[in-house]
Amino acid sequence: MKVARFHAPGDLRIEEAPEPVAGPGEVKIRVRNCSTCGTDVKIYKHGHHHIDPPRVMGHEIAGEVVESAAPGWAPGDRVQVIAAIPCGRCAECLRGRMTVCPNQESMGYHYDGGFAEYMVVPAKVLAVDGLNRIPDGVGFAEASVAEPLACVLNGQELARVGPGDDVLIMGSGPIGCLHVRLARARGAARVFLADINPDRLAVAAGLVRPDAAIHADVEEHVAKLTDGRGADVVITAAAAGAAQEQAIRMAARQGRISFFGGLPKDNPIIACDSNLVHYRELTIVGANGSSPAHNARALDLIATGAVPVADLITERLPLTDVLAAIDTVARGAAIKVTIEP
Ligand SMILES: [Zn+2]
Ligand SMILES: [Zn+2]
Repeated sequence: MKVARFHAPGDLRIEEAPEPVAGPGEVKIRVRNCSTCGTDVKIYKHGHHHIDPPRVMGHEIAGEVVESAAPGWAPGDRVQVIAAIPCGRCAECLRGRMTVCPNQESMGYHYDGGFAEYMVVPAKVLAVDGLNRIPDGVGFAEASVAEPLACVLNGQELARVGPGDDVLIMGSGPIGCLHVRLARARGAARVFLADINPDRLAVAAGLVRPDAAIHADVEEHVAKLTDGRGADVVITAAAAGAAQEQAIRMAARQGRISFFGGLPKDNPIIACDSNLVHYRELTIVGANGSSPAHNARALDLIATGAVPVADLITERLPLTDVLAAIDTVARGAAIKVTIEP
């Protein structure tokens, strides 16, 4: 079979590999869609301390069971696979905080991922209910977007996005688009979308129709749009410290700020006016991936139409074009790019 294997930063190869075999408690799938995101760009360019190459990349995975050595699964089952695998046994997991499991492993990092014709779903994934049946009417490509949507869901739960909120999303990539749609589904009053790249913003805004699309002077615009209150929730879906600093200044009293996107590890320090946090009773939250339960609920949001994703998938490419796909993502030239191995 063909796989896309990471060997070193800048060295991702399409190779022939033997088909994997499902061991006890495992399931083998024919990968039908594995979508790409900024994380794949980061891994391709810089590697990752949890990846010991060579490793098949790809973590937004949907496919069809072809071989099962696990109870409850049979050939023909259409499935979506979690990306982050919690251990299920540590103090955090036992408290239900699976997104911050310190023993977390990931598909495409510790295990071969979905940029391949076939893939084995590790027993550890099945042990934490990390394999989800794709509901009828949901395609494989849409199902592959359940993983990033699950992360977005975790972020908005932590930031308590709810009815009546004015929500500002900074960054109009695929994650920003999912944030706009989910905020609407959760009853937000108005959703604003900001990006410093006007072209990317225009494309995203055309699809997800925010109440305002802001490409410059974001602080002035948000002040004006909210009569000086600020946004009840500000979500940064961009790897920029400057956006995080602005986010704190643009939050309304008792506002919530989600640092959804992480910062480059060599430059993670920002300036924060602590008195804004104190007097305005702000809450700043992080977001670290998603739990298996978030993935199941994300699939449900897609299936019910609460969060449509089909129109966000703007490019479908074969596995042999994975480098072109990663380049497209790096340039921000598409919303969601999916690989169809
Ligand atoms: Zn991803
Ligand atoms: Zn754990």
